[in-house]
Amino acid sequence: MTDSVQRLLEQLRLGIQSSGAVRTARNATRRKPKAGHDPRADFARLRAARRKAKAQQASWRAAWRACRGGVFRGPARQAADAVLAELAADPVDLVRRADALVFHSSGGKDSVVGLHRAVQAAKCAGCLHKLVVVHADLGPDTEWPGVRELAQRQAERYGLRFLVVAAEGGFVGMVEKRGMFPDSKRRLCTSTLKRDELAPIYTQITAALGLDDQALIVSVYGVRGGESAARAKKAALSLDSRASSGRRLVLTWNIVHHLSTAEVWQEISEHGLEYHPIYDTGLERLSCAYCILAPEAALVLATRVCFALGLSIPTVYVELERRIGHTFKPGQTLAGVVAAARMLDALDGPLAWRRGDAVRRHLGEEACRRWEQRLAVAT
Ligand code: SF4
Repeated sequence: MTDSVQRLLEQLRLGIQSSGAVRTARNATRRKPKAGHDPRADFARLRAARRKAKAQQASWRAAWRACRGGVFRGPARQAADAVLAELAADPVDLVRRADALVFHSSGGKDSVVGLHRAVQAAKCAGCLHKLVVVHADLGPDTEWPGVRELAQRQAERYGLRFLVVAAEGGFVGMVEKRGMFPDSKRRLCTSTLKRDELAPIYTQITAALGLDDQALIVSVYGVRGGESAARAKKAALSLDSRASSGRRLVLTWNIVHHLSTAEVWQEISEHGLEYHPIYDTGLERLSCAYCILAPEAALVLATRVCFALGLSIPTVYVELERRIGHTFKPGQTLAGVVAAARMLDALDGPLAWRRGDAVRRHLGEEACRRWEQRLAVAT
């Protein structure tokens, strides 16, 4: 096991380094020649860069294929996946091998359980100092109140460093600028507001490590397979070829990928973990108050929660929809969702909930009582 993991990591490293060298070589050929410049010099540079890439390892082609899209193909892929799955199954070994661990926290239920597990593994490996928590703030009038503060408290409970990234203008600014809401096929909200903003963090961490060799950074997420069909297809551990470079090899670790919703709530109750009160309202996900992927029932419920909390989010989004002339989802306006929520409030009265209702709903009254006690002790 140890040898195969080492071999695979080396292969991934070589692949990433080769791809970097090839990219450099390609960029060299794309540079505009200056007036009077001899184009043969560009080809000579390309040849030299390719020779360098080849010299880095014997099986250059295999490694180059390996890092394109972060996958091996055929039997090589099966072998690589098996080794990565084995490594993911031994969190303490994985943490020990990493030079740094970056936990991406949304502050949600899966994140808090994932963070707790990552901390336990890091403590067992004697390297809690390697772990840093990063939160992507999606901007005002988008997230539920208190998400960023909660993510910070969850990190500080273990004495971890907490970093925040925030794109200028946030979600609302991005939609306003594009004149369109993102959709499931073009999730610009995730790529622009999260992935792109997080990229400099890897550079900072790599620089701070100051290693001569390529650093191994493990990027930890609270992504569960049970959340959606797309997430079910994700591996517990995989190569992030986009974030990797010649200076760093980045692996993505979906630490709670195998857990069910009930198991997540069980761990929250058992360890007295603090979760966001929005789950108590009946909403099952802590994300943007209005998520482009949410079903209509969740959008209507989110609107009723906004009414109960006196939040301006529905007004902001309906105004945004009107200004840009583009609907929140294809064939579905938020104005319609807000109207449906008003009708339900008029029929049933405003929503009401109690702290701990999410634990009660999933595990019962006794588990809720234990959660309250443990949370009080932990905080
Ligand atoms: S929660 Fe939904 S809307 Fe918000 S960033 Fe994620 S995918 Fe986009």
